Amino acid sequence: MEKTALITGASRGIGRAVARRLAREGYSVCINFLEREDKARELAAEIEAAGGRTMIFQADVADPEAVLAMGKAVKERFGPISLLVSNAGIAGQIQIQDVQEAQWQRYFDVNVKGFKNCVQAVLPDMLAKKAGSIVSISSIWGTRGASCESLYSATKHALIGLTKSLAMELAPSGIRVNCVAPGVIDTDMVQVLGQETLSELAAMTPLGRLGKPEDIAEAVAFLGGEKASFITGQVLTVDGGFLG
Ligand code: NAP
Repeated sequence: MEKTALITGASRGIGRAVARRLAREGYSVCINFLEREDKARELAAEIEAAGGRTMIFQADVADPEAVLAMGKAVKERFGPISLLVSNAGIAGQIQIQDVQEAQWQRYFDVNVKGFKNCVQAVLPDMLAKKAGSIVSISSIWGTRGASCESLYSATKHALIGLTKSLAMELAPSGIRVNCVAPGVIDTDMVQVLGQETLSELAAMTPLGRLGKPEDIAEAVAFLGGEKASFITGQVLTVDGGFLG
């Protein structure tokens, strides 16, 4: 099977590092983005200059029709998708009494339904080929509670539930489904915490630093690839020992 990967939220942060890493391994990569077309184009140019094959595609993962259109476009360009990395996500600190209805809905639409939408878009070809690999990106807050991040934490717990259930449902069809649960990773997402808090978080991490997007990309490349051919339904925590 040709190696073709769809990485959602690949214009920045973790997804960007995953796209770079997979391109180096010979995958044709689709760089999905929501708003930052400039960053997606910049990454595509960088990968192509290094000899890789890329396309970029704007789609809100929360929108099932847009995601289906993206899947179709990738198939037309590169052939069937062999690896889905469902990475796009939103986060924020908010106390439960302040969570608005629309905000609750949006978090679940992007972080949970977005995964479901992407799986539904790639599955027909994977089922037909009885092969394929899917990696979701949850969080350490998908395995533990997080004060003032209950909404985010709930979506990331749900994502793990979906991942494990799909692993069971799709294993007989030769499709593996795994999850990476990052700790604190130095991306745009966490800059809102401020430098002081980020330094404290680094100090609280047994390995003594924040994670880099590349740390997560390595885990995704492993779980998504052939070396993990007997691994499915697993959650790999990549957090420098933060959770202990
Ligand atoms: P980030 O720096 O904020 O980047 C988010 C990426 O997702 C961007 O490429 C953004 O596109 C895209 N995106 C956001 N909403 C989208 C939507 N509705 N549809 C399509 N794309 C969308 O985030 P990150 O830190 O790389 O996080 C990536 C994933 O890792 C998320 O699922 C996050 O929850 C998870 N995670 C992160 C950390 C951390 O410490 N950073 C820890 C644990 C888990 P645009 O560039 O177009 O806006």
